[in-house]
Amino acid sequence: MTAPAARFDSLALDAKLLRAVADSGYESMTPIQAKAIPIVLAGRDVMGAAQTGTGKTAAFSLPLLQKMLRHENASMSPARHPVRALVLAPTRELADQVAANVKNYAKHTQLRSAVVFGGIDMKPQTLQLKAGVEVLIATPGRLLDHIEAKNAVLNQVEYVVLDEADRMLDIGFLPDLQRILSYLPRQRQTLLFSATFSPEIKRLAESYLQDPVTVEVARPNATASTVEQRFYRVADDDKRAAVRQLLRERELAQAIVFVNSKLGAARLARAFERDGLKTAALHGDKSQDERLKSLDAFKRGEVDLLVATDVAARGLDIADLPAVFNFDVPFNAEDYVHRIGRTGRAGASGLAVTLVTRDDARQIGEIERLIKKTIEIEPFELEDMRPRRRPREDDRGEARADERWPARRELRAEAAPLPRRSGPAPVRDPFFDRPYEEPQDAAPAWERGKTELPSKTPNIRPKKKVAALLGG
Ligand code: AMP
Repeated sequence: MTAPAARFDSLALDAKLLRAVADSGYESMTPIQAKAIPIVLAGRDVMGAAQTGTGKTAAFSLPLLQKMLRHENASMSPARHPVRALVLAPTRELADQVAANVKNYAKHTQLRSAVVFGGIDMKPQTLQLKAGVEVLIATPGRLLDHIEAKNAVLNQVEYVVLDEADRMLDIGFLPDLQRILSYLPRQRQTLLFSATFSPEIKRLAESYLQDPVTVEVARPNATASTVEQRFYRVADDDKRAAVRQLLRERELAQAIVFVNSKLGAARLARAFERDGLKTAALHGDKSQDERLKSLDAFKRGEVDLLVATDVAARGLDIADLPAVFNFDVPFNAEDYVHRIGRTGRAGASGLAVTLVTRDDARQIGEIERLIKKTIEIEPFELEDMRPRRRPREDDRGEARADERWPARRELRAEAAPLPRRSGPAPVRDPFFDRPYEEPQDAAPAWERGKTELPSKTPNIRPKKKVAALLGG
């Protein structure tokens, strides 16, 4: 069944919530919203197969807020604001993002929400918890800390959401989840969202959900058709110049640059800074505070490039991101689909550029198999070399692009020495290099072409002038 592009006001939602939806600029429901909201309103447990970017946060928060409105009150007493809904999310960034959404949807109500995650001081979180909140969004580890410190009392929880449950299991949160769930009343409504329904997820659902309704949106294994995918053959040493040139030529205001290791991310971010681009790095070596600041700065448009590793960037929803660069071809083909899903969201167009070296043939083959499209690798003409090129023995005739690389590098080195990569090979961190296990058959909702996703999300910023980005 294809979900109709229904309007929110066709639902039994309070005017306060409908007003918040209208303020957000949403015109119609996304497929997961159209399917899940009535089921959640009816009080059923839900097992939802939907990735971030499909509008699933509103799909669970709007009906839960609706149900909690019967408890809405203006009392100052913390006892009148017990935690009634608990949302568990795998990463700090995702928790923060969900919390921002919930706050937004609840803004015309008196329902309170708070988010707690690790890596930052517990005190401000404790104060918020003690004052009372109806909706608590949390990462599992920090929530347990608060439970143990008796800051969070969960005996009145009526609704539980396990968001991105597959990632929580990937990260090894199962024991924490089991402990948290053991503190909750058995009589409750539980919603589980996951990109995949692996046997582990099914087991989790069997243990903690009661007669759930399965809700699925878009699963094929593909990349959004709104994303223009380009693969350029570039030598390692030319990758940075290639990114700069593409930013300029394609007039890209912002981009995420993906790399395979956190050390590589830090080093590349510094190099782009030296090139004059405002750059932030998002990887596991950064403190939580730094990561959130980087992300905020990027979302506000104060940062041009976000250099990120896969794990740090998972699930991020950045509206209207024009481009994604795969500076390194991901080790795992599923990561490719996941990375380029950062652009072209909710129907907007996007560009995904992958820089390919000779060593990447195997991974490119795997990506081809996964996305079921033939990948054409184009040679990349570096601008700063064109005027300086002179004919050389080894650089004439029908030589294939990759055969010309060494000669081209030599030429550039003679004419204009640019910073080159040196030092030891990037150190690999097993955690941050661990491939993300995306479903073999998952795709963004809009891929099917039938979905009526609104073309605008509320956060769309006007594009910056690229001249400003590149300093003239
Ligand atoms: P999510 O999958 O919940 O992370 O949502 C992805 C993005 O879509 C967020 O930026 C939401 O603000 C936006 N969004 C959610 N629902 C709608 C809707 N019905 N129409 C337009 N944008 C939406």
